[in-house]
Amino acid sequence: MKILVTGGAGYIGSHMVRTLGEQGHDVVVYDNLSTGHRESVLHGRLVVGDTADAAALDRLFAAERFDAVAHFAASIVVEESVREPLKYYRNNFSNALNLIDVCLRHQVERFVFSSTAAVYGIPAESPVTEDVPPAPINPYGSSKAMVEQALRDVSRASQFRYVALRYFNVAGADEMVRIGQKYKDATHLITLSLRTALGLRPRLNIFGTDYETPDGTCIRDYIHVDDLIDAHVLALGHLMAGGGSKIYNCGYGHGYSVKEVVRAVREVTGIGFPAVEAGRRAGDPPALIADSALIRKELGWRPSRDDLQYIIRTAWEWEKKVVNRKQ
Ligand code: UDP
Repeated sequence: MKILVTGGAGYIGSHMVRTLGEQGHDVVVYDNLSTGHRESVLHGRLVVGDTADAAALDRLFAAERFDAVAHFAASIVVEESVREPLKYYRNNFSNALNLIDVCLRHQVERFVFSSTAAVYGIPAESPVTEDVPPAPINPYGSSKAMVEQALRDVSRASQFRYVALRYFNVAGADEMVRIGQKYKDATHLITLSLRTALGLRPRLNIFGTDYETPDGTCIRDYIHVDDLIDAHVLALGHLMAGGGSKIYNCGYGHGYSVKEVVRAVREVTGIGFPAVEAGRRAGDPPALIADSALIRKELGWRPSRDDLQYIIRTAWEWEKKVVNRKQ
């Protein structure tokens, strides 16, 4: 297959490119390198470009005959989305429309979309199933939910088919430590805990200890990036086999509290880094856990890395490597 991977120089996209390359597929990466890194692209050809640039996309699609598109390129920081909503509606929604439009014009009818559990907002039920209506509570979640809606309507009106994968809390890194999360301004719990263990930050803040959860801290469903990539490969296979448009949750179906994650990071690293109790972070649902029965049943997804210690260990090896490279 020849596959276009937008955002293929970023954290999750680069893992997809690695796997597709290893499987012998022809990969073209389209990334503006705003948060991605050239050296994270382990296979295929990197085209530096922006999804805002409809003319550049048109030229690319005219020059290459893609069998499918995997669309990862997006802005992903919830708090930033509250401060700069238009950045999110532009990058995530408007630019996705550019990409869908160019697909339609060039008869590229298979599309895998990086969606998010943030479309659920604060779900009344946990684990949450895909048929719970989206009710995002921040512009990031709204921008992704709007793309899902556009995909649904376009696929009803044409031959175009898509799989939208709603990611829960993605963490971990390539087993061989070639690629991983590289955000300078990371906001995610596991990454920040590891950077605190490395002494790059003075302490970790535990955002909220008065939630209605067993230990008072928020519970999340942490999924290893490579199990998520397996889901993408299955989604592509589904579309290549003529399968219809689908939306699937990607998570393990159980979660860990912030305090449990901090404890596990201390165990894996052997470093008792400081963690202090702080106030709640705005917009955090108490618990966010995937019901992933649908993707297991329909695509045969069988995650093999459902192990918090493994997730943290691979992320830890990566963080150590990144730190050492800088010195
Ligand atoms: N969290 C925390 N301290 C941090 C970063 C995150 O306590 O420095 C908490 C956050 O409030 C949430 C959980 O860890 O309850 C997961 O947050 P993260 O940003 O990793 O992912 P999110 O669930 O927001 O996508």
